Amino acid sequence: MASDKKLNINELNQRFSDFLKRKNYRNTQERYRVLERIAEFDKHFSADELYFYMNSRGDSVSRATIYSTLDLLTRCAILVKHRFQGESAHFELSDRLPDHDHLICVECGFIVEFQEESLVDVQKRICEIHGFKPVKHSLQVFAVCPDPGRCEHNRS
Ligand SMILES: [Zn+2]
Ligand SMILES: [Zn+2]
Repeated sequence: MASDKKLNINELNQRFSDFLKRKNYRNTQERYRVLERIAEFDKHFSADELYFYMNSRGDSVSRATIYSTLDLLTRCAILVKHRFQGESAHFELSDRLPDHDHLICVECGFIVEFQEESLVDVQKRICEIHGFKPVKHSLQVFAVCPDPGRCEHNRS
């Protein structure tokens, strides 16, 4: 999805380094490398996808480093961790949210991001009925994808 907001890697690095300092974690170069690659990715990914991506780009990082860095990035809210039904955890930069929702194929796990203005009205109406003040929403629609070529489940 084309995002209007430009991801600012320097700002992300700053937020990450503030967090590591505050929590007394080691400030290793590898961790920033992981963050840089995630910003480059600019989409949803699982830990394994990131691992293969980084190694294909010549970064020799271990799975352990990837997992621990993803954990840290989630704890300082730079990343959001999604648990889509039946899928391994997916991550994305929280700066990409909350302006989209997710459509997930229950057969192959393929994820589509969509924007639907009317959901903002629904959120507002529901909050009004219950006397709440809206902050954000997250909708996951589970369905079956239309493209057999793209669906890993159908390909096998
Ligand atoms: Zn998303
Ligand atoms: Zn599918």
